Amino acid sequence: MTANSPQSMQMVVPGLHRERPIVLHVDDDLASLMMAEGALEDSGFDVIHAVDGQEAIDRFNEHEPDLIIMDAVMPVMDGFQAISAIRKLKLGAHVPILMITGLDDLDSITRAYDEGATDFLTKPINFFILPHRVQYMLRSKLTADALRSSQSKLDNAQRIARLGNWEWCLGSNELSWSREFGRVLGIEEGVSLETWTEFVEYIEEPDRSNVLLISEQSVEEKQPFNVEFSVLGNSDGAQRRIRLEAEPYKHENGEWSYMLGTIQDITERINAQKQIHNLAYYDLVTGLPNRAQLTEQLRYTLKLSKRNSTKFAILFLDLDHFKQVNDTLGHDAGDDLLKQVAKRLTSVVRQSDMISGGDDDDDADSQHTVARLGGDEFVVLLGVINRAEDAARVAERIAQSISMPYDIGSSAVSVTTTIGISVYPADGDDTESMMKSADVAMYHAKESGRNGYQFYSRSIHEQALTRFSLEADLRVAIETEQLTLAFQPKIDMKTGRLAGVEALTRWNHPEKGAVSPSDFIPLAEETGLIIELGRWVLREACLQMQHWIEAGWPSMTIAVNCSSVQFTKSDIIEDINAAIAYSGLDPMLLEIELTESLLLQDGEKGIQILSDMKALGIQVSIDDFGTGFSSLSYLKRLPVDKLKIDQSFVRDLEKDSGDAAIVTAIITLSHNLNLTVVAEGVETQEQFNILRGFNCNEAQGYLISYPLDIEQFSLWLESYREQIMQKVSGL
Ligand code: C2E
Ligand code: CA
Ligand code: CA
Repeated sequence: MTANSPQSMQMVVPGLHRERPIVLHVDDDLASLMMAEGALEDSGFDVIHAVDGQEAIDRFNEHEPDLIIMDAVMPVMDGFQAISAIRKLKLGAHVPILMITGLDDLDSITRAYDEGATDFLTKPINFFILPHRVQYMLRSKLTADALRSSQSKLDNAQRIARLGNWEWCLGSNELSWSREFGRVLGIEEGVSLETWTEFVEYIEEPDRSNVLLISEQSVEEKQPFNVEFSVLGNSDGAQRRIRLEAEPYKHENGEWSYMLGTIQDITERINAQKQIHNLAYYDLVTGLPNRAQLTEQLRYTLKLSKRNSTKFAILFLDLDHFKQVNDTLGHDAGDDLLKQVAKRLTSVVRQSDMISGGDDDDDADSQHTVARLGGDEFVVLLGVINRAEDAARVAERIAQSISMPYDIGSSAVSVTTTIGISVYPADGDDTESMMKSADVAMYHAKESGRNGYQFYSRSIHEQALTRFSLEADLRVAIETEQLTLAFQPKIDMKTGRLAGVEALTRWNHPEKGAVSPSDFIPLAEETGLIIELGRWVLREACLQMQHWIEAGWPSMTIAVNCSSVQFTKSDIIEDINAAIAYSGLDPMLLEIELTESLLLQDGEKGIQILSDMKALGIQVSIDDFGTGFSSLSYLKRLPVDKLKIDQSFVRDLEKDSGDAAIVTAIITLSHNLNLTVVAEGVETQEQFNILRGFNCNEAQGYLISYPLDIEQFSLWLESYREQIMQKVSGL
């Protein structure tokens, strides 16, 4: 009755770790125990005994038997309770248990299985069969163990790889899946997921629609597919990236009825890739793009500039005396300073987005790059600029921003920067020569005193400076009223009556003298100063006309030119309203001149603003007409009162029959649309006569009068009747 007596050397159950497996036999019937022991020992088993459930548990813990034979009915603790208790033990979960029940005792059999019995045998026991039954049970336990172990290895492998597998039955839409599948998707323990449709619900949009589309298509075409998508992980709610692979699978009956596949969590892999990318393309200290990325960006910018014939600029920066900071305050302080410089650079460049001109500020954002080359060298790449001053303006802002004091630890530190600028295409036609030019420019700037900027080309440098200072001067001019208005009259060609007057802006520069509107108006438009300038002109013109009327002069319209920038970027209607209210002028006497090209540019929005203007009660005329390409049908829809024929057609009227034809066409067209026609730039009596012969309504030009200042215009007005009558009768 001991567990150790070797009776037979044969292997009863190959694969089991004991040569003689130990059987624990639990029964309160001693005769039964004896009979069974004899039969089992003869067949190569060692047998240990227990006479009730409680003793069985003790014996089990002592000997760790390979199998248990358990009687159902016993004193102290019966077989059912004993099984239930053993199953809860760590080693007892999988040990085979053979339950001995009374014959025909169906309730006991069912109960035995419920408590965890592996098999049952009815009394009276056939002791000849018993060893075979025990042997069989041990063998199948081994198979189950092997299955469990390979299942658990698979589980572990899947867990390590963050890879789950699944099987989708196409007929029923049912989905079965491995444990890791649930973990990858973040499915909480106990939450059910039984169909493909439920699975797809876990996927974040817009990936979800994509997965649906691809999977439907692959099912239809019986093709393998793979797809990536995002899900929200359950624990922290952070987004995770998943890759799914799938393959159609044929059922034994030959039908394509399954999709088999895997899903794998690739978040870490993607993060690692990103990190590798960051290490390769970003500077560790400042987080700015490094030289490698700058080179790529530069190549791309060059390509775009070539294709679109646009300009770009490289600003090469070097901090002045950075080495001193490093040497006196240490490397950490140096790094800290570099970080702060990087921040300021980025913010200046972001604020300078408007220099790229377009309305699309988002686009502009990606066109500029701030990079650190190493040490105290930085590069700003301005992807698109309109002209060299744009780069100068940014350089100026950078120099200013960098020179503000820094808080480094407990000390305040000041540094300055020197900037070299190269502009494409003037200073190079490939990336290397552009970088070299900026570098050379930077050294020149250092030579001519630090804390400044310098262009590579002399001519560009001077150009930029001139326009730059002109812009600054214009700003001052608007504020200090160096601007004045000149007035040029228009007359009715039939009666000689004064038909109106056009206000033209004049700038008397303190050093340069008179600057032509064709120089400063475009500059004002590019810099946005035109909006303020335009407001001033509107107000002055209305005010002056109201003065004249109050002084007893005859009523006439005052025409004010309006630039496309005012038209599109400011609230022109409000500006007009303000000028009228401020001056007290009758709105009927105000006329706004808009160029034809402006109206063509803005389409429907233009028509809307024109209608708003008309609603104010003012007059609207189209300036420089004939240079654009208005279609008749478009013109018809414009709520305007007048057309002004462009000077260029009037100039050669006597000599060029083509121009004469255009002018007659414009006049006829205007009259058909009930518009008044004004000829601009009338310089000779002959031009005047021809135009009058064509039935042109009004004329403006040097023949009648040059643009005049207020005093001159007052004098002119007093004598105009006389002069004009002569010209009209000179026909
Ligand atoms: P514009 O509106 O077509 O004005 C007419 C221009 O032709 C004026 O030039 C005027 O002096 C000139 N002119 C008048 N009669 C004759 C003539 O018989 N022969 C020749 N050759 N020229 C004549 P100005 O004053 O130099 O102005 C040039 C342009 O600047 C204007 O063209 C207008 O587009 C713009 N401008 C002037 N003042 C303003 C303003 O206050 N606001 C805006 N937005 N633009 C203005
Ligand atoms: Ca005009
Ligand atoms: Ca004009």
